[in-house]
Amino acid sequence: MNKSAAQKVDPGPQSRNLQAVIVAAVRGLLGDAGQPLALHEPEFAGREWDYVKDCLDTGWVSSVGSYVDRIERDIASFTGCKHAIATSNGTSALHICLLLAGVDAGDEVLIPALTFIATANAVSYIRAVPHFVESEAVSLGVDTGKLDAYLQETAQIVNGVCVNRSTGAPIKALVAMHVFGHPSDLDALVDLAQRWKLVLIEDAAESLGSYYHGRHTGNFGRISALSFNGNKIVTTGGGGAVLTNDPELARRAKHLTTTARLPDRWNFLHDEVGYNYRMPNINAALGCAQLERLPAMLQRKRQLATRYQQAFATLDGARFLSEPPGTSSNYWLNAIVLDENLAAYRDDVLGALNDAGYGSRPVWTLMHRLSMYRDCPRMGLDVAEQMEARLINLPSSARLGG
Ligand SMILES: *Cc1c(COP(=O)(O)O)cnc(C)c1O
Repeated sequence: MNKSAAQKVDPGPQSRNLQAVIVAAVRGLLGDAGQPLALHEPEFAGREWDYVKDCLDTGWVSSVGSYVDRIERDIASFTGCKHAIATSNGTSALHICLLLAGVDAGDEVLIPALTFIATANAVSYIRAVPHFVESEAVSLGVDTGKLDAYLQETAQIVNGVCVNRSTGAPIKALVAMHVFGHPSDLDALVDLAQRWKLVLIEDAAESLGSYYHGRHTGNFGRISALSFNGNKIVTTGGGGAVLTNDPELARRAKHLTTTARLPDRWNFLHDEVGYNYRMPNINAALGCAQLERLPAMLQRKRQLATRYQQAFATLDGARFLSEPPGTSSNYWLNAIVLDENLAAYRDDVLGALNDAGYGSRPVWTLMHRLSMYRDCPRMGLDVAEQMEARLINLPSSARLGG
C-alpha cells in the first residue's frame, strides 16, 4: 500500500475551506443528495412510451418512418432553420457539415481547443487537420479578436482562399461551438469568417434552445450540427441533426446520409460514396416526445441556473458562468470557475462535491493535449488552459429546477 492510500494527505486549510463553502452552496440549493445526483440525466415524462410503442406495434423501427419526417419538421420549426436532416448522432452530423463545407484531405479547419472530442474527430475523418484556436472567458467560445490578429500573422488570402503561410495548406472552415449552451459571439464570428473566406459551421450540439439576439443558434453558420445524445438537453438515445437554410445543402445532406442512393423503384443505384447516417424511426419517436416538452424543460433549467447564480453571487473563490449579454442560454450544463489563485484546488473541490453526491466534473481535456492532436497547428491557448484548470460543471438536470 502506498502512503497516499494509507493516510489521506490533508490538502490544507485554504482548500478545505473552499471545498466546504462550495459544497454548502450546492447543498443549499439542491438539498441533501441522498442518492448521488448525476451531472445531467434525461427525463421521460411525456409521450415517449406511446411513440416508441407505436414504432414497435407498426414495425417502423428503422431508418425510414413517420417520426423521422416529423422530427425533422419539429426541429426546423423550433430552431427557425429552413431545413433539418436527422442523423445517427452529432458526430456524423458534424462530419456531413464539414464535407458540405468543401473541406478536403489536407485542408485545415479552425476549431476551438476547448471542445468535446467529436469536433476534432469529425475533421480527422476527412483527413483534414484541426487547427486549434483560443477561447474567451465570457462565452467560452472562439475569441474572434485574438483569432483575427493570429490570422493576420499566420494566414493570407490567395485567389480567394485562406492559406496558412507556414504549412501552405488551405484553411477552409471555422467551427464555432456554443459551450454548455452559451452562445458564442456569432456576429463577430460571421464577420471574421466572411473576411477570411472561411465557411462558418456551428457545432450547436449543446445549444438546442439557445438564442443569440433572439435568433436560434445554428442559423448563423452556413451549416450546423445538433446532438441528441443521452446527456444532451433533449435525447433520442443517440442522434443528431444537420441544420441549414440552404435548400441545396439540405438536399446534399439528405443524400449523403442515406448512402447516396438514387430514387428508383427497385434498383440499388448510388452516385457517390455515401454514409449510413440516418436516424432510426424508433429514436426519432423518442425525440418527438422529448421536443414536445423542450420549452418546459428550458424553463426549469433556467430556474436552476438562476438559483446557482444567486448562490454563487456572494461567494468568494468562484464565479458562476452566466449567459453572455444579448443571448439566452439553454444552460445545458451549469459551471463555476474558480479564482485563478485557487486552480490548484480544483480536484479537491471535485472530490468533495462528488463525495457529497453532487455529480460534478471538469471540462474536457483540451484537444491539443491528446496524443493524436498534439502536433496540430495552434495559436496561444492561455484562456482555454485557464478554463481547463479552473472550471467545474455542477448537476444540471432539468428536474432539479422544478
Ligand atoms: C455531444 C457533442 C457532439 C456530438 O456528440 P454525439 O455523441 O456524436 O451526438 C459534438 N460536439 C459537441 C461539442 C458535443 O458536446
